Amino acid sequence: MTSKPPAGPGDASAGAASPTGDPWLLTPGPLTTSPTVKQAMLHDFGSRDRGFIEVNRRMRERLVAIAGGEGSHVCVPLQGSGTFVVEAMLGNFVPRDGKLLILINGAYGKRMAKICDYYGRATVIQETPEDVPADPAALDKALAADPAITHVAAVHCETTSGVLNPMAALADIVAKHGRALLIDAMSAFGAIPLDAREVPYDALVASSNKCLEGSPGMGFCIARRTALEAAKGNSPSLSLDLHDQWVAMEKNGQWRFTPPTHCILAFDQALAEFEAEGGVAGRGGRYRANCKILVEGMRALGFKTLLPDALQAPIIVTFHMPSDPHFDFEVFYDSLRRKGYVIYPGKLTVAESFRIGCIGRLGAEEMRGALSAIKNTLAGMGVKTGVPAAA
Ligand SMILES: *Cc1c(COP(=O)(O)O)cnc(C)c1O
Repeated sequence: MTSKPPAGPGDASAGAASPTGDPWLLTPGPLTTSPTVKQAMLHDFGSRDRGFIEVNRRMRERLVAIAGGEGSHVCVPLQGSGTFVVEAMLGNFVPRDGKLLILINGAYGKRMAKICDYYGRATVIQETPEDVPADPAALDKALAADPAITHVAAVHCETTSGVLNPMAALADIVAKHGRALLIDAMSAFGAIPLDAREVPYDALVASSNKCLEGSPGMGFCIARRTALEAAKGNSPSLSLDLHDQWVAMEKNGQWRFTPPTHCILAFDQALAEFEAEGGVAGRGGRYRANCKILVEGMRALGFKTLLPDALQAPIIVTFHMPSDPHFDFEVFYDSLRRKGYVIYPGKLTVAESFRIGCIGRLGAEEMRGALSAIKNTLAGMGVKTGVPAAA
């Protein structure tokens, strides 16, 4: 008796699937990786293996170079999803008697505030709506008014809406007041320029699986060496102690605890592909082209973006829900999934919405494929237009 294998997660037989048969991930992460990045994982390395230690060293060096931090900054990698390294950054750099001002305009800023609640760190919140960037002038005022604030935390691209925060202007204000800046650049690092030689910060965190297109599994912190040295003893957590992780890794090139070896091998390959694409300029260029195709195509179908183009980062785009009574998001989502494209629900409080990502190993062909799947799906649902209800 022969039996058909069960339809796995990669069964996108009805649509235009990737080379592995998996759907294209137009999401904030995990993201589509290249076949060569996936292949790089097909090895078992011991943590003390000299070849592995060399790959790890090279990865850290490349990440510092991408940040523009050679000579001033160091790279400390950490096991876990992106949130682990955000938590590590806050726990390490904000001392127990410090005070953190958090700029919030979405879920990731809110998450930083929640982490500080767990850790009992003093915070001040400065919040703008999800479709409004952080305000440098308001930050200037807040820092002038409260000398107790030691650190400021900001999100470069707030993935909740896709809004780009004015990081260079914010960094200037923080530096002018002599405070330290901590950046969550998770969904921007590698695609949106942020050079440590021009934009001063004490620490920045990102992960292996967003714009750098590795597999999920590790984050990293780019830290000003002197700030990291001064952070010794601050961490309320052993496994998230970046200073300890750094000191140990500098000593023998090894991770303190089991390293995510496969993830690092994939990341090494992803970083080689990143360089081959032309670094931040090349990667950012492809994402901007993806974003343009997506936004123009969706507008042609009547959809409306949450953000004006000037505030939109080429990372993920938020669209208002259409008002057509035949539109049903679950049906829309499932139909696109069957056609080989995974999109993402909205996470906004200001409007009913959904999101489509531009990042990961996707190009013009995949974006056009997604648009044609969206068009066919709308026709199948009997939806005439993507126009939302008038605000
Ligand atoms: C993805 C992301 C994170 C981390 O999320 P994880 O799900 O923990 O990987 C943090 N901040 C921003 C801005 C992100 O986009």
